Amino acid sequence: MSYIKIPTRNEEARRGENLCVRNIRTIVSCDSEDRVYNDTDLFVEDGVIRYIGPDAEAFIDRRRNELSEKGQVLGKIERLDGTGKILYPGLVNTHHHLYQTFSRNLPEVQNMELFDWLKTLYEIWKNLDEEVVRYSFFTGAGELLKTGCTTLLDHHYVFPAGHHLDLLDAQFAAADELGIRFHATRGSMDLSVKDGGLPPDSVVQGVDEILADSAEAIEKYHDASDYAMHRVALAPCSPFSVSRRLLEESAVLARKYGARLHTHLCETKDEEKFMLEREGIRPLEYMEQVGWTGSDVWYAHGIWFTDEELQRLADTGTGVAHCPVSNMKLSSGVAKIPQMLKMGVPVGLAVDGSASNDGSNLLEEMRVCYLLHRLHSGADAPDGYTVLKMATRGSARLLGRDDIGAVAEGMAGDFFLIDGNRLDAVGTQYDPKAYLATVGYKGSVDSTVVNGRIVVKDGVLCGINEEEVVKEANKVLERYLARQQ
Ligand code: ZN
Repeated sequence: MSYIKIPTRNEEARRGENLCVRNIRTIVSCDSEDRVYNDTDLFVEDGVIRYIGPDAEAFIDRRRNELSEKGQVLGKIERLDGTGKILYPGLVNTHHHLYQTFSRNLPEVQNMELFDWLKTLYEIWKNLDEEVVRYSFFTGAGELLKTGCTTLLDHHYVFPAGHHLDLLDAQFAAADELGIRFHATRGSMDLSVKDGGLPPDSVVQGVDEILADSAEAIEKYHDASDYAMHRVALAPCSPFSVSRRLLEESAVLARKYGARLHTHLCETKDEEKFMLEREGIRPLEYMEQVGWTGSDVWYAHGIWFTDEELQRLADTGTGVAHCPVSNMKLSSGVAKIPQMLKMGVPVGLAVDGSASNDGSNLLEEMRVCYLLHRLHSGADAPDGYTVLKMATRGSARLLGRDDIGAVAEGMAGDFFLIDGNRLDAVGTQYDPKAYLATVGYKGSVDSTVVNGRIVVKDGVLCGINEEEVVKEANKVLERYLARQQ
């Protein structure tokens, strides 16, 4: 269709930009030594941080000379003024369903819990198409970028009959237009209502078809190289909407390509009951049987694990994407994050789909995470800086990346800046590491940078015209919701 742009090829997307940020008041690096820099400069070359120190201009001069000796030139350098700003590593979102942005805040589902909520919403979601995917992506991913997120994983698992790669094409094209680092998933469902699952027939596929589509998506978009802007994971929806064979064969396929594995697990007590009734075993044991544990696997939610099961996650390096707002909204429970952190279970942060959040803001998610565990676990709760590290380094680990999640030389040029001179920031300077989770930062950040490119400037998206997108998005949304009647 004409409104779907062609996504950038993987290697073109990876090409970064040069950016010099001068006079930064504070950098909270989240690096391996938890360094904080004051009154410093930062230089990004070809999308990678090359210098953090007192004089970026002198470094750039040296770099120019080095390159000219080799007959090369340093390309154009963008500049950003860091005066009065606090710079943080870009936040990493490890679980989302962006299409749900167009079914949020609907009055008919506000009081439901997970299973009823899903059954009702599938009647809307079965009408998804490329334009809904495109504009819901702009809405959700645009909000994420404006609130400091630089890498996004979207768990897309609804592929109505007749749609497959076109929906992922629409996502990658929208990601490139916004300038966000994007991990797609080829999600899937093969059990519909008639097989004892929850979704209607028109959004499920056979296992062989799913596997063929999954291989095609990986071959087209998965870029395993450092600083990749595009990656693909395989993500059957949840153990209660897919068959044993689909899980087993998806794991084999993903590992053949070096892609990662993701699904929902232990979100509710209903799910645990369902698995005990259908399989006679608890959810984690079932996942172990189908080959779904290991350092290349992470689950969304992970609320209802026993302590002994948490130890098995720690031993195998299997990760958990913590989604506190969604878990509170759907009354699902409180994940044992303090125990997980203590035991060494890899933990990252995520907003989950916009129909159960109902927003896409990791700054808010960090504060809610901090407060929820303070309420629930008292002094054992993670402190504000630990929550920030969960949303940066922790989340990066779940996505299998060591090139994002910290501000350090050799890391990707992904970060955001906020103004430390705002009225509501007075007093926060005593602990910039904890600030975002303990005090919280409301509204759009000052600037967001991905791959060395400024993608949010003065709180506004650079890649799209926000006003025009809002008008078009509302028209697309209205047409979409009218289809269910
Ligand atoms: Zn989810």
